[in-house]
Amino acid sequence: MVFLSYLIEMNEITKISPPSGKPVRERKPDWIRVKAPMGKAFEETRKLMREHKLNTVCEEAACPNIGECWTKKHATVMILGDVCTRACAFCNVKTGMPMPVDALEPQHTADAAAKLGLEHIVITSVDRDDLPDGGASQFVKVIEALRRTTPDTTIEILTPDFRNKADAAVEAIVAARPDVYNHNLETVPRLYPNIRPGARYYASLRLLEQVKRLDPSIFTKSGIMLGLSEQRLEVHQVMDDMRSADIDFLTMGQYLQPTPKHVKVDEFIKPQAFDAYASIARAKGFLLVASSPLTRSSYHAGDDFAKMRQAREEKLARAGA
Ligand code: SF4
Repeated sequence: MVFLSYLIEMNEITKISPPSGKPVRERKPDWIRVKAPMGKAFEETRKLMREHKLNTVCEEAACPNIGECWTKKHATVMILGDVCTRACAFCNVKTGMPMPVDALEPQHTADAAAKLGLEHIVITSVDRDDLPDGGASQFVKVIEALRRTTPDTTIEILTPDFRNKADAAVEAIVAARPDVYNHNLETVPRLYPNIRPGARYYASLRLLEQVKRLDPSIFTKSGIMLGLSEQRLEVHQVMDDMRSADIDFLTMGQYLQPTPKHVKVDEFIKPQAFDAYASIARAKGFLLVASSPLTRSSYHAGDDFAKMRQAREEKLARAGA
């Protein structure tokens, strides 16, 4: 029953009926309909996350891919608690005063990764503007625990912008040498005041540029959501800005309204339009582009990491030829 209601939630949207003013549920377009999360492997992933007291962005963000990802034992661990100090208009994570940092979380994360037998793990966090380092040292401890416990697992981190302390935070994390450093720009700069009010577009770009400057061997990655009323040329400009910051991997996916309280979907972008954006992005020089309605920054992250590594090798081989 839980799964059925979850499926209904994921495949419907809430709209306000004009004559009555009452909310009504409508089906999402067919191209973003997903299967109900269920099955033995899905349950095992869920059980393991609970046993190790880990939060996942898959659940907190009500990600539509949870059925597919958890069945394949892919989950994105969300460290530093499940309460965020910001309240972005698109995000389903709770806002409020977060709990103290859990000293056992790094080892719990590493143990879960080892039990799942992960070749690649994605670690993200809530925003922790309350902490002096924004939570950077916890990212470092998680990376260190993973390297000790499961040394063959490649590590991708998806960090906040570490407002007002980004330089020191990025230096510390880069020194711990994750394989991929992801930080999402989320949307075009014009929409920041409404969609991402606590953040600054150029500060986020600078953060990614700094990662590459400090250690060019770390892959950098960033993503945006489409369907928030961004214009085509604005998206192209974001791509240019990302290339100027030497970002390797661009992800683009459809924004989905997690609850009626969040900002509404302005448009469901057709799959063909995602393909067209992907072609333009590739022409602009990204090593890798993932663009589809259901693309999320951690969707197929392991496979994409392997593709990105191969693309870099081919590029270096061409340059040396
Ligand atoms: S796409 Fe990412 S956040 Fe969504 S279920 Fe998969 S791993 Fe979790």
